[in-house]
Amino acid sequence: MTFIPEPTKMNSDKFRKVLRDIDTFIFDADGVLWLGEDVMPGSPDFLDHLIKLGKRVIVLTNNATKSRAVYAKKLAAMGYHPSITKDSIVNPAAVVADTLHRAGIHRTDKKMNERDDMVPEFYADCLGALAPRRHRA
Ligand SMILES: [Mg+2]
Repeated sequence: MTFIPEPTKMNSDKFRKVLRDIDTFIFDADGVLWLGEDVMPGSPDFLDHLIKLGKRVIVLTNNATKSRAVYAKKLAAMGYHPSITKDSIVNPAAVVADTLHRAGIHRTDKKMNERDDMVPEFYADCLGALAPRRHRA
């Protein structure tokens, strides 16, 4: 049985320990980094601080309506650190692409229709995520 501690309020000592002991921070996007089209106040400064400390920052979203590139542009427009790129973002398309890759299902050479609406972009993002990887023989 796994013991999951109850959440507790973090004081500055506990927070310093978290910062020292954790190398990678994963943030939800909507409701944490932004709220609709509005940046969440303080979040860009906090992520800047983490990045200056050498921490890895990953943005995780279950929203499948936009590609990682669109989310990266949104973060940049909101003032988030420029090192947070589409490669820092995990969305459903990235997970599907990784699953396909692990299953040995490789990119096709078929040209995708890369419009700005969600469905083609979703699949283009999947295939794009596969493109730079080397495949097993
Ligand atoms: Mg959320």
